Amino acid sequence: MSDSQSLASLVDPIIGIDLGTTNSLVAFVDARGGQGARVLGDEGEGLMPSVVRVELDGSVVVGQSAADGMVEFPDRTINSVKRLMGRSLSDVSADLKYLGYEVISGEHDTAKVRVMTDAGERLFSPEEVSAMILGALKERAEKALGVEVSKAVVTVPAYFDDAQRQATRNAGRLAGLEVVRIVNEPTAAALAYGIRSRDEKSSQTIAVYDLGGGTFDISILKLIPGDEHNATEFFQVLATAGDTHLGGDDVDHMLVELFVGEIAQQLGLQAENSFGSFDASTKRALIEFARGVKHKLSTDNATTVSIDLGDGKNYERSISRVEFEAMIEGWVDRSMAACDRAMRDAKKSNGGEIVIDSVVMVGGSTRIPFVRTKVGAFFGVEPYTAIDPDRVVAMGAALQAGIIAGGLAGEQSDALLLDVIPLSLGIETAGGAVAKLIMRNTTVPARAVERFSTSVDGQVNVKIQVVQGEREMVADCRLLGVFDLRGIPPMPAGVPKLVVEFLVDANGVLNVAAVEERSGKRAAIQIVANHGLTRDEVDRIEAESFKHARDDMTQHQVVDLITNSSLDYKWISDRLTKLSALLEDDYRDELRSKLDVLKGFITKAKLDWRSVEPNAFHAAKEELDHSSMRLQEIGIAESLRNDPGR
Ligand code: ADP
Ligand code: MG
Repeated sequence: MSDSQSLASLVDPIIGIDLGTTNSLVAFVDARGGQGARVLGDEGEGLMPSVVRVELDGSVVVGQSAADGMVEFPDRTINSVKRLMGRSLSDVSADLKYLGYEVISGEHDTAKVRVMTDAGERLFSPEEVSAMILGALKERAEKALGVEVSKAVVTVPAYFDDAQRQATRNAGRLAGLEVVRIVNEPTAAALAYGIRSRDEKSSQTIAVYDLGGGTFDISILKLIPGDEHNATEFFQVLATAGDTHLGGDDVDHMLVELFVGEIAQQLGLQAENSFGSFDASTKRALIEFARGVKHKLSTDNATTVSIDLGDGKNYERSISRVEFEAMIEGWVDRSMAACDRAMRDAKKSNGGEIVIDSVVMVGGSTRIPFVRTKVGAFFGVEPYTAIDPDRVVAMGAALQAGIIAGGLAGEQSDALLLDVIPLSLGIETAGGAVAKLIMRNTTVPARAVERFSTSVDGQVNVKIQVVQGEREMVADCRLLGVFDLRGIPPMPAGVPKLVVEFLVDANGVLNVAAVEERSGKRAAIQIVANHGLTRDEVDRIEAESFKHARDDMTQHQVVDLITNSSLDYKWISDRLTKLSALLEDDYRDELRSKLDVLKGFITKAKLDWRSVEPNAFHAAKEELDHSSMRLQEIGIAESLRNDPGR
């Protein structure tokens, strides 16, 4: 793609915005880099708290610093304003007890936020507050892209009605953004995973499970392929359900109650002397603490908790994932009950039957492994978790924006549509070579299994590197992901039985699982295999592989020879030492000299693979192997003699 074209695509960019209840994000698809959607901004992870503070002088603060001041300035800090969008005061009466600021009824019974400043009372419509958040995101995008931005795709929950969608459009307009399309959040998440129709006949059914900080939404979507009446495919919402007050915040509170209850007991205090009686900053500190414990338990099997109670006293306990899961089971089940309702409704709208093809996970709380397990069991499908659940909606919005922007649309949708695996998939083996499990142009879905072992004695951890590309060495391929298989009992090199399985489903999502069969240890990772790949990039990688094909093959061959010869060398020289006394001098010398020859090849090849002739290297290994047959026989005879009972 030429430079003038690249510049052209950035003249009037369309950004994608996830305008969330707790956090908002802005993302963009850059047609030039072929990198797929990326979240913009430098503020940590790109999440911007959807919080606005009105200062006493009437100015406003948006984002992280506004969120940080929530406890200090509760009546001037406006959070969760999304709950008020397009609603009347009576609609939201149940929400009010969760909000620290005042909400009153404006004209036509619309909800308004009332804040006191030095200049007196000020009223803000929810649209105005959302516009401040959108304005901050627009600014962030302009800074990142270096051009003015005036157009956006904005996501809303699937259940938003016309008034709520219109309010979202108005908020955009107030922020100087033309909302070129409103997209349902679950649809955006499905788009981010590249879920597209495979052909004109078949449709797909997708469940999008979105568990955030304060809200839970479940949506059942049906992907209707394009036909002669309707050129493009679209996602139909079959059903939605959820709970507007169910989320990760509840878990934080459960943990705080647990700790505070135990502390009260330890200090001999009354039970009512608990959470409610603390001052705001202590409450906040406890909640932050509990959240940290919760996040830790998403990766670790247990964690220890320690709180200094003053006067030389200390509260200490450990909490295991098992205990944590028992505590949150009822909470997870509340979301499963909503899934049940959604499935029943979806069946009705779909004429009786429904089979879920894919499950997409959205929202920070879906990082909890127990949530993943429960959801997987409920729908009977391994849920999609490969994309960061905080970013997946924004990335989908950006993809939709890229498609609307035209120009890149053709290319982008080409790249997204994945009926075959565009580039081979494999893992790193000893010496940095690639073992390809699934070859390019294999049609999806596809499955492959390969057996490996270790190359070092007593290896207890194996690092699995998943790569994509046509070259023979890992260094020349694209690294898709890395994970560790841990806790293998120590065994000699070559003894562990490692089985690696690749499973690419119809949407191109790759599940890689590794099992050590003797110990049953297992680890897995999920990756979007075609992420950010454009047709151009695939072509370039392919061309490069042809160019390097011969060299690569030789290098791969030599690297494999180094690995296998080293194992043989070690095995044979060990036996030779052990059985030396039983061997004739000639035979011993023959083996020694052949070992030396092989050692010479190994050493040279390790320094520079080009310096050895692979056929000669291979011949040296074969000759040694051949000569060592007798050594092997002598070894077997010797062990039988020592252990005649066998
Ligand atoms: P919302 O949709 O309400 O804007 P998010 O999707 O940003 O919320 O999710 C925020 C929630 O996710 C918080 O409760 C946070 O504690 C939780 N969360 C984030 N990371 C993890 C993790 N690693 N383990 C468990 N919970 C997490
Ligand atoms: Mg969310």
